[in-house]
Amino acid sequence: MEHTLRVLVRIDTKTSSACLEVRGCLVPENCPDLLEILRHTATLGAHVVINLTKARHLAATALDDLMLQADRIPSLPLDGGHTTVSVQLPARLPVCPPPRVQAQAPGVPLGNVQAFELAFLHRDTAVLSPFIPRR
Ligand SMILES: [Zn+2]
Repeated sequence: MEHTLRVLVRIDTKTSSACLEVRGCLVPENCPDLLEILRHTATLGAHVVINLTKARHLAATALDDLMLQADRIPSLPLDGGHTTVSVQLPARLPVCPPPRVQAQAPGVPLGNVQAFELAFLHRDTAVLSPFIPRR
């Protein structure tokens, strides 16, 4: 499966701050790309926020690497302080959808793994509707 990193960079010159908003997948294969964007943005002398709350997929190993490397970004002197890097995290790590779960024949219940993936990982509430008793 292809994991595509999408990053929106916002720079606020008034507050000398920048936001890297990750919307795609952050996995070990593309984490160096995000780190390169972070290094470039930090050279502008901005306080950088990495917003991961809207990411589609966050791999724990990539996140570990990001946190480690973010601490190593050189701190540049600014008026009244130094550049900082902070990371905004979602409550839990999202995963991008696997290939679509096979459509179930009507009346055939989902397996536990399929139901868990759809309901909790993909938040597909439609998975619950066939099981609501109808009167
Ligand atoms: Zn992904």
